[in-house]
Amino acid sequence: MIARAVKSAFQEGKEENIRMLEHIHIIIYLIAAALVAATVARLLRDKKRRAAAPPPAQSAKPALLNFTAAVCVAVSILGTAGLFFQGQALIALRVLACVIFALSAMDAGVAIRRWYENILEKPTVRRSEFILPGVAALIGFLALEFTVSLCGIPGGKDSALAVDYPVHGEWKVVTGGPTALTNYHHNNPVAQNSAVDMVRSQGASEGETIYAPIDGVVSKAVGDRSPGGAEPEGNIVIIKDAKGIEIWLAHLQQNSLLVQAGDSVKRGQALAKCGATGSADVAHLHIHAQKDNQPVPLLFGPAKKFLLRNALFQTTP
Ligand SMILES: [Zn+2]
Repeated sequence: MIARAVKSAFQEGKEENIRMLEHIHIIIYLIAAALVAATVARLLRDKKRRAAAPPPAQSAKPALLNFTAAVCVAVSILGTAGLFFQGQALIALRVLACVIFALSAMDAGVAIRRWYENILEKPTVRRSEFILPGVAALIGFLALEFTVSLCGIPGGKDSALAVDYPVHGEWKVVTGGPTALTNYHHNNPVAQNSAVDMVRSQGASEGETIYAPIDGVVSKAVGDRSPGGAEPEGNIVIIKDAKGIEIWLAHLQQNSLLVQAGDSVKRGQALAKCGATGSADVAHLHIHAQKDNQPVPLLFGPAKKFLLRNALFQTTP
């Protein structure tokens, strides 16, 4: 919500502004991680001190605020890690987040005990002691909010279009999601903000059959372009549905089209083969929906999934 408010303040369609905001987000994220590290270091130092001498009177609430921030950052690390890392790196980050969470929980336990002792005795908390932990908590929430903003459907579920998966088998999303951080297509142009590029999870995608994701009429079909051509979309099929929403399926293999402009198509009907025509380094399918040059987010399959970067999905014919 905070990010959305800041974003709307920045927004006049300026791509640099949006990218700058996302860079600010990364900086906030790094500061949050540093604060969590500082909390862990403080816990270790306190433990040493307690071993050497009886604990000095300390405030309780700052530790609680640090705890809140640490939890938010841990959740944020987990959420974001899934978008950027896979396999071993993701497991390592999950373990790290669990450790941070456990240390923070211990910190909170100590804090609650001190707070109780403070009530029994006399208050020893100074106002200045709240400033840094307050900042830590705020940054923690921003980090959490950032993670949510990386996953949300732009305009909400109601503005999205439910479609079938255009491919069969196990596939992986190379780029997709609502921000420039996870989606190369963002503002490139605006109509492709929610575009998804997908490849087969194992082996080459070249020659895989592409199926119609919706019922509709083919409004454009070009199939004779060779790889690396001047047109960025390469060979393309555009299907227009009853509401006038266009689905673009791009980079199709040369001379593989099974439909032509004006054809009516049904969901699941074979359209063409996957290829690497236009601006495509490797064979992949580009899919996006748009209406009046505005992006329409896509929800795929029976589970209506909004596909983010690194998402894996399995479909059967
Ligand atoms: Zn693409």
